[in-house]
Amino acid sequence: MQMAIDGPAGAGKSTIAQILAQKLQLIYIDTGAMYRALTWKALNLKIALDDAEKLYNLARDTDVYFLQVSDEQKIYCDSVDVSGFIRTPDVNDKVSLLASHSQLRKIMVEKQQKMAQGRSVVMDGRDVGECILPSADYKFFVTASLEERALRRMADLQRQGHKGCYEKVKCLLKKRDESDSNRETGSLKILNDSIVIDTDNKDIEEVIAEILSIVKDN
Ligand code: C5P
Repeated sequence: MQMAIDGPAGAGKSTIAQILAQKLQLIYIDTGAMYRALTWKALNLKIALDDAEKLYNLARDTDVYFLQVSDEQKIYCDSVDVSGFIRTPDVNDKVSLLASHSQLRKIMVEKQQKMAQGRSVVMDGRDVGECILPSADYKFFVTASLEERALRRMADLQRQGHKGCYEKVKCLLKKRDESDSNRETGSLKILNDSIVIDTDNKDIEEVIAEILSIVKDN
């Protein structure tokens, strides 16, 4: 079985995808983490994020992959475990700009398709249903209002011991939504064949139950 979960930042896609992977015995592939890993490397190498050619070469020449270490999935970039470096404010801020380059996206989509080839997977991202797994058995678009997503991000920040300003968090999410929705290829959108799951006012168990009921009914 192949399942695509797309949606805006902060909608809970990765938490949902990880739980579904466990329950349905699917391999979980976090495509956003791959763009984040590349962004981390580009920032380290001081590659300008508007330099499409250098970024294309970077995507082509970088080995980004996942490894399961006990019960945690780690992401590696050229044999460096970058799991702890890809969710910093700097990467959050820049990743969408890197991901806006069409040629770079082509390379990433090819790599992601290879990872999924012949395997039962759940992949989350922005363009999974449209570009990576266009024939997925299930395509979900998981969303929530901007306000709810900002509140969830604030709770995450607080859990990690950071303060965070609600208005700033909301503004950055909105900026990322706009950038992800308005690019040339692989943009964030609801497809004709995707099922929208609105997670406003629902806890994670309710969302999982809703998705599982759709999967079981088919
Ligand atoms: O899912 P996450 O918020 O970690 O994704 C980070 C960023 O990576 C997104 O805002 C988007 O710009 C980019 N992305 C993408 N296509 C995907 C997954 C993520 O462009 N399939």
